[in-house]
Amino acid sequence: MNQMIRILVIEDEKNIRNFITSVLTSQHYQVLSAATARDGLSQAASQCPDLILLDLGLPDMDGMKLITRLREWNSTPIIVISARIQEDDKVQALDQGADDYITKPFGNSELLARIRTALRHSSQLQNGSSASERSYHSGGLTIDFEKHLVTRDGKEIHLTQNEFKIVALLAKNCGRVLLYDRLIEHIWGPYSESDNTILRVNMANIRRKIEPNPAEPIYIFTEIGVGYRMAEED
Ligand code: CA
Repeated sequence: MNQMIRILVIEDEKNIRNFITSVLTSQHYQVLSAATARDGLSQAASQCPDLILLDLGLPDMDGMKLITRLREWNSTPIIVISARIQEDDKVQALDQGADDYITKPFGNSELLARIRTALRHSSQLQNGSSASERSYHSGGLTIDFEKHLVTRDGKEIHLTQNEFKIVALLAKNCGRVLLYDRLIEHIWGPYSESDNTILRVNMANIRRKIEPNPAEPIYIFTEIGVGYRMAEED
């Protein structure tokens, strides 16, 4: 099935480009590659890839700028691959329209999982509703979005309205990181203070209720300084 999926790799380091290419071709993805931003932009336009893997440190243009340029006309999912580990960079890349990021060095399975998540979300956007719009299942945790019902190992968990909103938004975007600001805006509206404290308090309560061990979460992970990411569905 992957044969039909084309992935554009924009990365100037040959070793990394080759590594990614071999991982992707082993999974039967079609791979296009570019060593410069200029070539990347032109292939994004001419080849219509299904997904773009983008290195931020390119010789001819800053990767952040490339995201902005791409987003002017193109909604192909972008996963940033970068050695930059600054939290600000992650937030900025996501804010400018990247769908996810992965920090170098990374392994095959992490790369492939992020690609599957990004592709799944983009096909859901195109196809409209799907089973996962009605419910979420991971391990013992089940969320029924319509009935506002959360259960773990068959037992109902009582969440406040805001706690449920947070959990539901994360679950609908499972596998992807959601920025603190996005969550705050979604729950408390666009004019709310972008102070993370109230979100953190809510998250502590959510974890106490849904996680078997809140100190070692298995359902909702913290991306320090960036946001939260909910476990993929089974
Ligand atoms: Ca580079």
